[in-house]
Amino acid sequence: MTTSTKKTSKTDSARILRRIRSHLGDQPLPSVSLVAVTSRDPFRILISTMISLRTRDEVTLAATDRLFAQAETPQAIAALPEEAIANSIYPAGFYRTKAHNIREVARIVSEEYHGSVPQTVEKLIALPGVGRKTANLVLGLGYGIAAICVDTHVHRIANRLGWVETRTPDATEAALEKILPAEWWIAVNELLVLHGQQVCTPQSPLCSRCPVEGDCRQVGVTRRR
Ligand code: SF4
Repeated sequence: MTTSTKKTSKTDSARILRRIRSHLGDQPLPSVSLVAVTSRDPFRILISTMISLRTRDEVTLAATDRLFAQAETPQAIAALPEEAIANSIYPAGFYRTKAHNIREVARIVSEEYHGSVPQTVEKLIALPGVGRKTANLVLGLGYGIAAICVDTHVHRIANRLGWVETRTPDATEAALEKILPAEWWIAVNELLVLHGQQVCTPQSPLCSRCPVEGDCRQVGVTRRR
């Protein structure tokens, strides 16, 4: 473990991410990344990301497939009864609230954006149930626009590594923009989600098996394996 408080350089952060990527090898992708790779459809990525909040990956994938088997376009989903959307995405967490928001998002995209998901964070976060995390994931995976999606894993690991000293995901996003080369902005989410699920877990991370243990300041880590 390094105790230095030296600011992380873009060269260092890229090297650490390369090592994490190499350690992960050919892992199954997180659910929304899988949807992105298989569909290349920003609308499906947006809806899948909304479903994924507080929901396990396998539930998200199945729920997305059931919903899009019923209706594929924003116009068609907006025409579904809210109850039908809720039944399709059950047992995703908060499925009734999500069903309401999904129908409304589909209506707005259909009526106000001619069926195309908007391509700016400002327009995306104006949609119901869409925050910066979802907006940035859609921009990155849906449109290839460099944007950092900071979820709970990215926020936790960036702080443990000592890359940032932040209390909120929004602050982490702003801090990461300064120390991550732009070519890693999209990939960092997928890499740290998988690393956070398998190695740098919320409780008692597996530091003894971590490929970047020598570069990690382990900030706030009191129990480790
Ligand atoms: S597992 Fe341990 S060493 Fe690896 S990134 Fe997390 S806190 Fe750092």
